[in-house]
Order: sequence, then structure tokens, then C-alpha cells
Amino acid sequence: MSQEVYQQLLEVMKKRGGRYAGMDIPEFFKMVEAMFTPQEAEVNNAMPRNPVTAKDLAGQMGRDESEIEAILEAMADKGLCMALTVDQTKFYQGARFMPGILEYQFMPGRMTERDRKIARLIHAYERAYDQKTDPSKTTFPTTRVITVDAVVKAGNQVHTYDQVQTFIDKYEPIAVGTCFCRHAAVLRDEDTHGMPNDVCMMFGNGAQFAVERLGARKVTKQEALEVLKRSEEAGLIHMSQNTAEDIGFLCNCDRWHCTTVKDVLTKPKPGLFFNSGFEPAFDPDLCTACGTCIDRCPPEALTLGDQDIPVVNLDRCFGCAVCATGCPTEAIAMVNKPGFPEPPKDGKALREAIKASVA
Ligand code: SF4
Ligand code: SF4
Repeated sequence: MSQEVYQQLLEVMKKRGGRYAGMDIPEFFKMVEAMFTPQEAEVNNAMPRNPVTAKDLAGQMGRDESEIEAILEAMADKGLCMALTVDQTKFYQGARFMPGILEYQFMPGRMTERDRKIARLIHAYERAYDQKTDPSKTTFPTTRVITVDAVVKAGNQVHTYDQVQTFIDKYEPIAVGTCFCRHAAVLRDEDTHGMPNDVCMMFGNGAQFAVERLGARKVTKQEALEVLKRSEEAGLIHMSQNTAEDIGFLCNCDRWHCTTVKDVLTKPKPGLFFNSGFEPAFDPDLCTACGTCIDRCPPEALTLGDQDIPVVNLDRCFGCAVCATGCPTEAIAMVNKPGFPEPPKDGKALREAIKASVA
């Protein structure tokens, strides 16, 4: 039964898709056997695509409602499924690995032996998966960089989707939790380069779930802006899904541990794929050639040119503005990147663009 239920889980996770969907390799089974008990795996495998109540799922499985509800509750607390209360009715939903279960494991920021073990098993699975799939071949970006609006040069075109403030104003509730990438690195005893951990932002239903189950805290709009400011000062990149109208999360990412940034950096021209639609312009009268921007630049797109002014390699530049926010003399302003495409309007348009890119 035990082996069989994890084989079934493999097929279910393949169908759910997303990043790191199920793959028939030993690392997959080591990981899921540590994360799901056989009973939890069985319930996961029975969960339909849409949200479901414990009562309906128990009926579908021919089992007792209270037994299934107890398993679903334990799973939601462990980040193995979503749980949401709508009009006083509790719904559960099976999740993908990414975005989903793999991130949920680390958002609570726990430091138990179980967490350490799972962090190592997930890392081993991701590495084995990447070796077999070559993420550098992805052809349409599922995520995008959002620049820092405050350092865009006057006169440039700034769409609402370019402004982080748009999303802060739009959503309620907003939750801030632990960065799962950096916390997983902490659990693996890796260096996080002094970057802050409590800067992972979620909106709407995702925020509610993160507060109720994943140890995130609900924040005011003012607190959310302070988190963004702190992230910019540290040199983190604002990043979200590659859609213009609605986003469910806003990550503040680094170059060492963020799964997405590390994937992008395997591409020959990462800046043409993962970009905000802006690029830095340098004022030679203000630049003192201090080199701060060169050190801060996440994709190492800057070098000091012959005139002692930084020169940008646009094949690598993300348009993140980490250089500009760190410049002590305000010698850098962000300007529009000519010809850069607008993001797809919504999730449906994004899925169509991804499908078309691999057709
Ligand atoms: S941080 Fe500013 S002053 Fe220093 S090298 Fe870069 S542009 Fe020049
Ligand atoms: S030069 Fe580097 S730090 Fe500046 S916008 Fe480009 S990627 Fe970001």
C-alpha cells in the first residue's frame, strides 16, 4: 500500500504540473515519503482540481467525514494542501509543488529537525530534476521583475503594473511571511549574505491562507511599504508573476538562493528573458566611480568603463534598479528599455503565451 500510494502521488503531481511537477526519480520518493504519511498521500491523491469540503471528499472516498477532516487539517498545517474558509464553510484544495507545497514547507520559518531534513530532500529533488530538464530551455517567463518606481527618470512611461504601490493599494488582506528560498538555505546551513528573511508578500486568498496556516502576519499598507523599502535597501529584487492586472504574491529575491533567479542566470542572455522593461542610465557628473552599484548588481551586469563610469551589459541586466537604490550620489536613474513587451494581461493570457512559446 505504502509504495503504491506514493506511485499514485507521482502521477497526481505530474498532472498538477507547475515547476518541479512529479518526476520518477529516487529523489522524488525520498522527498514525498518524508513529507506525506501514507494516509495523507492517499487523501492528496483523491483531491479534485477544485476546492472541496471534507464532507464531499469523504463521500467520494467512501470514508468517515471526521477521519478525512482530521487528515486534511493536519495536511493544511504542514503546508501539504490549501485550506480556505468561505462563508463559514471550510474548503481544501490540492496544491502543486511549485508554486505551492515546496514553498509552504518553509514559510513558517520553523527550525525543527524535520524541517532540516525536508529542506535537504527538497534541494536534492530540485537539483536532480534540473539536471534532467534544463531550466535554461524555458521559453516564456512565468515571472517578471518590477522596478523601483522612485528611481525612474522623470518623463519615462510608467504603467500601473510597473508600480509596486498599485498592488499594495489594490489588495486586502496583505500578508508578510518568511522567504522560503532563504529559510530553506538557513536550514541547509548555507550563507544568506545578510539578506532579510521576513519579506515574502502575499495578497488576497493566498494571504489569508498564509496567515491562518503558514505563520505569516497580516500587515497594513504602511507596513507593506516599509517591507519593500527594507528589501530595496538590502539589494533584493521585487518579483511577481508575469501578469499585468492581478498578482497573488510579491517576492523580494536574491541571486544566491531564489529558485527563479538562479534558473534565469543559467540562460545565455538572462536580461532579455527576465526584466522589468527598464534599464539604468548613469549621470557622469554625479558618479564617483565608487563601485557600489557593481557589487550590488544581482546578475553582475555592470563593469567600470574607460571613463570611470559603469557600463551595463543589457543582455544580463534585469532592470531591477538595485544599482540605483544603492548609489550614494543618486547618479543612476531607470529609463524605459526600448521595445520591451508588456506582460500578459492575466493568468489565462500568461498560460496561453507559455503554451504558444513551446508549440
Ligand atoms: S554607485 Fe553610483 S557613484 Fe558609485 S559607481 Fe555606481 S553610479 Fe557611480
Ligand atoms: S544593472 Fe544590475 S542592478 Fe542595475 S538594473 Fe540592471 S540588473 Fe539591476
